[in-house]
Order: sequence, then C-alpha cells, then structure tokens
Amino acid sequence: MRLAQLPQEFVGAQPILTTLEGAGYEAYFVGGSVRDTILGKPIHDVDIATSAYPEEVKALFKRTVDTGIEHGTVMILDHGTGYETTTFRTESGYQDYRRPDKVTFVRHLEDDLKRRDFTINALALRQDGEVIDLFDGLADLKAGVIRAVGDPEDRFGEDALRMMRAVRFASQLNFDIETKTLAAIKDHAHLLSQIAVERIHDEFVRMMLGTAAHRGLSLMIQTKLADYCPGLVGHTIDLSTIATVRQLAPANEVEVWTMVAFHLGLSYPDTVEFLQAWKTANHIIKAANQALHLAYAQQYHGVTKQLLFAMNADTIEAGTNVARMSGYGPDDPNKWLNVYQDLPIHDSHELALTGADLIKRAGLKPGPEVGDILQKVQNAVITEKVANDGETLIKYVQDNLLTDDDSSKTK
Ligand code: ATP
Ligand code: MG
Repeated sequence: MRLAQLPQEFVGAQPILTTLEGAGYEAYFVGGSVRDTILGKPIHDVDIATSAYPEEVKALFKRTVDTGIEHGTVMILDHGTGYETTTFRTESGYQDYRRPDKVTFVRHLEDDLKRRDFTINALALRQDGEVIDLFDGLADLKAGVIRAVGDPEDRFGEDALRMMRAVRFASQLNFDIETKTLAAIKDHAHLLSQIAVERIHDEFVRMMLGTAAHRGLSLMIQTKLADYCPGLVGHTIDLSTIATVRQLAPANEVEVWTMVAFHLGLSYPDTVEFLQAWKTANHIIKAANQALHLAYAQQYHGVTKQLLFAMNADTIEAGTNVARMSGYGPDDPNKWLNVYQDLPIHDSHELALTGADLIKRAGLKPGPEVGDILQKVQNAVITEKVANDGETLIKYVQDNLLTDDDSSKTK
C-alpha cells in the first residue's frame, strides 16, 4: 500500500527522515500515527523509528534532547516542533510482567516491529508513502481486528498492560479482539495485578472515553480483567448495567468515574476511597463526588437549588449527563445548568449580609448562632424567598430568624 499524500504532521518531520536516510540509515514513521492516518483519523504524536543508534542520531542534528536515551529515544529540535526518534530495538527479560529488563538496539526494522503489541500498531510508513506491513496489520485494520503480534500467550505474559491496551483500542476504534488474542487475555487477566494502578487507570479512562466504551467494558467483564482492577471485583452486574447503557458516552474523566460510582451504588465516603484506590487525582475525586450528589438527587430525592448552589457549572453538567445516560432524566440536558445560572448568588461571598452586619445591626453576639443565621439567610436568598439586598436581609432576619432572646437584645 502506498499513501498518495502524507498528513501535514508527517510532512513537517520529513527533513529528519531525509537526513537519516542521506547518512545511510533507515527511518520510518511508526506506531499509532500510522494506524490513525490509514483509518483517516486525526493524529497526535508523530513517532519516528530508525536504524541509527542514539549517538549516531545525535551526531546528525544540531539540537537534540535525550528524552529517553536508555530506550533509544532522542528528541530532535532542528525543525521547529520536536520530533521523537527511537532506535530500532528489541526487548527481553520481562521478569515482572511489565518492563523489559533489557533493551537491545538493532539494525533491522523487522525486529523492532516484532516487539510491538498489535498488528495494527506494527505498521511502518516510509516517507514516500509506502506502508511496510510485515504482520498483516493492514488486513486487520480493514477487518477491524485487534490481534497480538506473534504468540498472544507470550506477549501478555511479557507485559500485562497490553491486555488493557487491547480493550482500550477495541473501544477507541470499535474493533473486535481476535479469538486467540482474546483467549490469551482470559488466561492472563490475573497478571494485571502486577501492573502499577496509575497505568491501568490511564487505559481504563481512555477505554471509557472511547467511541465504543460499551464494547471495552463488556470485554473487561468477559475476560475478567475487571476483577483485577481496584474495587471492581464482585461488581460484574453493576458494570454490565453500564455496558448496556444505550448512549454510553461520558465526556470526560469526571463523568467516567461518576458513572462508575453511581452504578456501583457507592456512598460518598466509599466513592472517595474507591477513587483513591484507583490513584485518581484529588480534583477529579472532588468533582466526581459533587456530580454524584446530583445524579443520586435526580434518581431519588429530587434536585434542590441548595444542592446546585454547592456545585459548579462543570460538575452540574457531569452529574446531569450521568443521570441522563442512566435513564433518570431530566429531558432537557441544560435544565439544571439553567436553574444554576438563574440563582441569585453563586457564592457565599455574594450574600449581601455578613456576620459583622448581624452583630452590629441585629444585635447578635459573636458565636455559632451567627453562622446558623447566615446559613438560613443564604438558603432564603438561593430559594428566592427574599431579595439579596442588605436592608431587606436585616429586616428578614429581624422578622423571621431571631428568637425572643435575640430580639430582646435588639430592643
Ligand atoms: P495512542 O498514542 O493513540 O494512544 P499508540 O498506538 O501510538 O496509540 P503509544 O502508547 O503512543 O500508543 O505507543 C506507540 C507505539 O509503541 C504503539 O503503536 C506500539 O507499536 C508500541 N507500544 C506501546 N506500548 C506497547 C506495549 N506495552 N507493548 C508493545 N508495544 C507497545
Ligand atoms: Mg502514540
């Protein structure tokens, strides 16, 4: 196969391939960008592989950075944007089912492509547009199949993260996992427990954000990979419910985790613990917990203005989307966002009454009662029982919120 035209991202990197080839080395575009180009999808990172050893690469360019020199990766900055170039290599000795003990630089493209995970990721592209396809990756791309390069049993035994990558690609590309590859994942699912949670987290979120997340999730259940993820063992039925959601399309990581916590029926403290076990970033945990409040409120006890006030536009959107995907409405996707935007205030600081006003004007003594009354005033403003105006609020407090005891003090 020969591509008539290279995407712009590749064109910018062509001088690098030209320089390497001019010096007698081989150089190709490799990895996900080749796969995505053939699929007609936008590409993000351009990876270049070359037969030149790292020191040989560095000798050919003026400005380079050793971004991963021990793995053979050098960033070349001579042509504006940096381009990462990696020497052909083989990997061996996966003692711990994750990282190779040894990386060996080699001169042949075939050896480099052999160590790659799936046939669709083992294509190389020459700068003249010719696609080098040693493992029938093009046929698999066409058929929509994820197939391990070589013996799948060996490949997942070497690096257990590849199993999560398989389900992630199945979701992102809406592809099937080939039969033997799938069987090997079932056999090796338990090895996932050897992999750092952060790396599983990354693949899981990308899987859930893929266009066929239902497929990825079903594969995780079917292969039992889910049983080796934090907090998911014993939750097959809950996960299946998510997988059967007709329009499963979380828009971001917060929605992914809110969706999972909602269907697992987790309490707020359990959600925090669950997400911490997944090594989720704190700001995501906080946002997911807020969104979860809205989703549960929508399902059970109704959404109040006070709840919306305690949230922000992003978490309201996330909570609404999760409730809607799960079949709990509201019909209008902007319903809660509109209510939120129409609230008279969006922050306690906007309240036209302070504790000091209460002490000075309503004769209250400093103490917990001040806070309690402010809270009541805030609720009254949020629910539009009273206008957010200083004088009106003082009067509202005097008429409605002071006990006889307090009032006697004002007299
Ligand atoms: P994307 O960047 O869209 O997530 P990608 O295929 O480019 O997809 P990367 O993680 O960027 O994935 O890896 C680049 C390439 O390196 C892959 O296409 C694959 O050839 C190879 N690769 C990455 N991770 C592994 C792995 N765990 N085992 C074997 N090969 C891998
Ligand atoms: Mg990539």
